[in-house]
Amino acid sequence: MKRQPWQWPEKKWRAIVNRVRAGRALRPKKWQGGARCAVALSFDSDHETNELREAGESIGRLSQGQYGNRQGVPRILNLLKEHNVKATFFVPAVTALLYPEEQKRVVAEGHEVGIHGWIHERNSVLPKKAERELQMKSSAVLEKITGVRPVGIRTPSWDFSPNTLAITKEMGLLYDSSLMADVDCYELMMNGKPTGVVELPVEWIRDDAVYFNMNRFASLRPYTPPEGVFDIFRRELDAAYQEGGIFQLTMHPHISGYRSRLWILDELIRHAKKYEDVWFATHADIAKYALKNAAA
Ligand SMILES: [Zn+2]
Repeated sequence: MKRQPWQWPEKKWRAIVNRVRAGRALRPKKWQGGARCAVALSFDSDHETNELREAGESIGRLSQGQYGNRQGVPRILNLLKEHNVKATFFVPAVTALLYPEEQKRVVAEGHEVGIHGWIHERNSVLPKKAERELQMKSSAVLEKITGVRPVGIRTPSWDFSPNTLAITKEMGLLYDSSLMADVDCYELMMNGKPTGVVELPVEWIRDDAVYFNMNRFASLRPYTPPEGVFDIFRRELDAAYQEGGIFQLTMHPHISGYRSRLWILDELIRHAKKYEDVWFATHADIAKYALKNAAA
């Protein structure tokens, strides 16, 4: 009979914990240009894949995904342009194939496009071979459409399988942005060994979907008002500035790209700019800088 977790020998639970761990902190004393704080804005352009990955065919939910392309991304890009700040868009390959022009515009405006799975699949339910093939195929699709080879990955739903890191390392990617062991960048360890892959950590706290996503057939409704969400994000930003760290944020075009919500991003950027010595950069640039300039 399969042993229960409370019956596991120490070796077993240690091995599970050690599969992927945070290694050395990659925390520079100062950010690019002497900046005190780095701002890493990211947008996960899931669009229709949230529905497709569940084998869903709801025309209504697919239309919400299409909003992400028709309204969400353009509104976000216009705002970023207005403020002249760069950001990262994590894009499932199926989104990129549905909307190649969107990805081309993102890159043409100086932003980064990172890997975000094929169809927003859940890595932890995939066999290793399938996960490896999808991750590589996704990268190839993004490169073909944008002309730029992705250097970073955000696993869909931040679902990181026991095989993800080995695949990411094999692909020679600079960074991952799906894990949560720190507020600063760190080097990912695999089974106790450094991998050279940088983690730029995320958190559900700094994710718009947590507060705003609504499922018609679940009883729970979003209950945090936009002002409340802004307050949480602003406090994260202020503290990151005080500590000389990174303010990393995850938003979704089909969730935040609305008239009553996009002001949150606008206000956050304005707020960050009040500090002056803040560096807005893509995840790739921040990961690269952290790796190169980590204080010993
Ligand atoms: Zn996503």
